[in-house]
Amino acid sequence: MRPENHLQILPKSLWVFHCNSGSCNGCDIEIVATITPRYDIERFGMKLVGTPRHADVLLVTGPVVKYMTKRLKRIYEQMPDPKAVIVVGNCGASGDVFYKSYNLDGPVDRIIPVDVYVNGCPPRPEAIIEGVTKAVVALEEKRAQLVGQPQAEEVRQ
Ligand code: SF4
Repeated sequence: MRPENHLQILPKSLWVFHCNSGSCNGCDIEIVATITPRYDIERFGMKLVGTPRHADVLLVTGPVVKYMTKRLKRIYEQMPDPKAVIVVGNCGASGDVFYKSYNLDGPVDRIIPVDVYVNGCPPRPEAIIEGVTKAVVALEEKRAQLVGQPQAEEVRQ
């Protein structure tokens, strides 16, 4: 399904909180690129927010260094349900080049549940936007489970 079609089931603007759990900043720069005029993710109604309490989606970059473990859990717990987690970059998915570091508690799915992985070092902005559209579907399925309504797959048909 094309990303625009995923977005057709979006019932409201998607608010996104970004957490750097110890990345080299490469993935974070690509996330910033998605909100520049060239990619303009805000045209879909999505925007980065300054607090997890307002967020539907958590974007995590980095392999989760020990210093960030408690903080990442706390951010996740502060988000209201339904919520989705997107890991942006290979470090958050597997540890990648930092895999054997003494200072890691990650990758991310050892700390909090993950819904979508966007692979790459760093991923391109197009891939990040596609990841957000997958999170829309995951969110709709979670929302349907919460209110006992049909799954997103049924809604799309
Ligand atoms: S995946 Fe690559 S760009 Fe992203 S944080 Fe890791 S090393 Fe940096």
